[in-house]
Amino acid sequence: MATQTKTSKQKESKFQQLFIDEIKDIYWAEKHLVKALPKMSKGATSSKLASAIDKHLEETKVHVSRLEEVFTMLGLKPQAKKCDAMEGLIKEAESILEDTDADTMVRDAGIIIASQKVEHYEIASYGTLVAFAKKIGLKDAASILNKTLDEEKATDTGLTKLAVSEINDEASEE
Ligand code: FE
Ligand code: FE
Repeated sequence: MATQTKTSKQKESKFQQLFIDEIKDIYWAEKHLVKALPKMSKGATSSKLASAIDKHLEETKVHVSRLEEVFTMLGLKPQAKKCDAMEGLIKEAESILEDTDADTMVRDAGIIIASQKVEHYEIASYGTLVAFAKKIGLKDAASILNKTLDEEKATDTGLTKLAVSEINDEASEE
């Protein structure tokens, strides 16, 4: 707002509060993904899918620590706020493991659907967080969040390739 003068002592705006709330939301989400991804990887039939998930698990751990860096930049202690959406997406992923047979490609196709829903949630979140950080003038936070955004997008693209190039073919023949 052009009429509002900014001072460092000033209480954060509603927009900044929204930004911080959303950081807390995705922090909860990332921390829960660190726990959930190993189950997906273990449940996968294809070793390529398992290693794609394992690779993203390692990236996800970095996503958690990047968010902790952002909290520090904001002068805040890391704090997670329950993300109902991610809780639901993780539950869906777990029910795919229950509803599909082990050692089938149909299961892998299901794991990919569930994983891509998760990645899309993250892409939506980080896309907005980058834009908010830029708007607030938090350049460093924006560039940290953007690194994660790129990894979420790359993961999503990689999963599409894996599905289209082999897993869906094999699943459709089972
Ligand atoms: Fe992530
Ligand atoms: Fe992710």
